[in-house]
Amino acid sequence: MTYALVIHGGAGAQPGVDYEEQRRHLADLIAIGHKMLAAGESALETVAAMVANLEASGLYVAGKGSAPNLDGTVELDASIMNGRDRRAGAVAAIPNIVSPVHAARLVLEDGRHVMLAGNGAHAFALTNNAEAIADPESYYTEHVGHGSAKETNNRTHGTVGAVALDSGGDLAAATSTGGTFNKLPGRVGDTPLIGAGTWADDLVAVSCTGIGEAFIRTCAAHDVAARMRYGNAGLNQASEAVLREVKKCDGDGGLIAVDCTGKIVMPFNSDGMKRAAISNSMPAIVRVFEPETGEFS
Ligand code: ASP
Repeated sequence: MTYALVIHGGAGAQPGVDYEEQRRHLADLIAIGHKMLAAGESALETVAAMVANLEASGLYVAGKGSAPNLDGTVELDASIMNGRDRRAGAVAAIPNIVSPVHAARLVLEDGRHVMLAGNGAHAFALTNNAEAIADPESYYTEHVGHGSAKETNNRTHGTVGAVALDSGGDLAAATSTGGTFNKLPGRVGDTPLIGAGTWADDLVAVSCTGIGEAFIRTCAAHDVAARMRYGNAGLNQASEAVLREVKKCDGDGGLIAVDCTGKIVMPFNSDGMKRAAISNSMPAIVRVFEPETGEFS
């Protein structure tokens, strides 16, 4: 039985900052995900659970830990994709919903559309019983209501994401973010854009993190899959090539990916990326800095 799981807490990690709390959280969470996949849970269910937990922790710039826009409001982006049938759901600039990835999942399950934005996304989520945030002032870890100039040392930007291969051979990916600090109201990054921040098909599942504008301009997540499908690139070769293109667009960041054989990569061109991986044949790896060389399983 082959399965694999990778999660990330963003590529905005800064040298010299203590990420012990995030490391501990990632270690505990990947163990939960491992149990789910070992018990036969689907990749889609597993990545949804991983990202919802990362959002709720308040330790990353997503969900509870999100930073407000320049005008002091919080607008969040998230997406999720199922590799087998390419069903996908996304929400962009959604306000006041506890779990944007859950809202994205609701869009996927509904099936009429792939992406909903802003107030329409919020209304759709509420209609489908998603949990709303009653008092944003007290909910978010960052102070809401006075603009977001606060770039705390350990949380400059820090999207969260997960990719998985399940024991049935299916792949899935999910990503969720509060976006970049000091973003303009209405700004939408790569995270909710299927093909830019998130992708899953029958070959590979990818979740990106970093300066979203560069990941949009390179269509980064899908480009990993395209290089594998049309150019016969290996997972590592494809991922490294995509990050080089991202760099050419002045983007720093990273990605996590797993292919249909269970191979894993977690490359980044920033200083660090909070990340963890596990598979049926490999104990958990939890790292912030120290890049891996190549793919592993
Ligand atoms: N990619 C995200 C965005 O641009 C930010 C991040 O990954 O930290 O919204």
